[in-house]
Amino acid sequence: MRRVVLASGNAGKLREMQALLAGCGFEVLPQSAFGIESPHEDGASFVDNALIKARHAARLSGLPAIADDSGLDVDALGGRPGIHSARFAGAGCNDEDNNRKLLRELAAVPAGRRRARYHCAMVFVRGADDPAPVVREGLWEGEIGFERRGGGGFGYDPLFVVAGDGRTAGEMPADEKNRVSHRAQALNALVEALKG
Ligand code: IMP
Repeated sequence: MRRVVLASGNAGKLREMQALLAGCGFEVLPQSAFGIESPHEDGASFVDNALIKARHAARLSGLPAIADDSGLDVDALGGRPGIHSARFAGAGCNDEDNNRKLLRELAAVPAGRRRARYHCAMVFVRGADDPAPVVREGLWEGEIGFERRGGGGFGYDPLFVVAGDGRTAGEMPADEKNRVSHRAQALNALVEALKG
C-alpha cells in the first residue's frame, strides 16, 4: 500500500476516500495524524486553494497528498459566493446566515435566471513541489430556489434545486447525493486517473 495524506479535517471525506482509494493501492491518512493544521487559503480559484492545501500537507508529512476545495457558483452573482462559500455572510457565520444572504441577493432575480452549480476541485501531488499535480473537477448543476426545502445535507443544500430532478440537494437521501454530487464526480475522476 502507498501512503497518502488527506489535507482535510473532515471525517466523512476521510471515510469516503479510504473506501475508494483502497481499491487502487493507497492507504489514506488524515493530516491530523501528523499534527498538520490547515493553511491560510488565499488562492483565487478552487484549484488554487486545493493545491495550497495539498502542497502544505505534503511538505509537512513528506508524503503524497490529496486535497479538495468546493463551493457554490451562482451565475447571477458573477460566480459568487465561489471560493468564499463557507463565509459568504462574514466571519463566524453559519449555514443559515449564508442561505439568508443568498436569498436576499437574489431577491430580484426571476425563475429561469437563477442558475448555479456546486463546484469541486480535487488534486493529488506526489510531493510539495510536484510540478505536475493531478487535477480533476466536478460540477453539479442546478438553480437557487425561492425557499428552503429538505433537512438533509449541509450548507446551501436546502436552496439548491438539482437540474433535471426538481428536488433540492437537502431533499436527497445522503447516499444518493454522495453518488452524484460535485465531490463524488471529482473524486471518482481522480481515482480513475490514479489507477491509470
Ligand atoms: P469545503 O470545500 O468542503 O470547505 O466547502 C466550502 C463551502 O462550500 C461549504 O462550507 C459550503 O458552504 C459550500 N459547499 C460545498 N459543498 C457543498 C455541498 O455539497 N452542499 C452544500 N454546500 C456546499
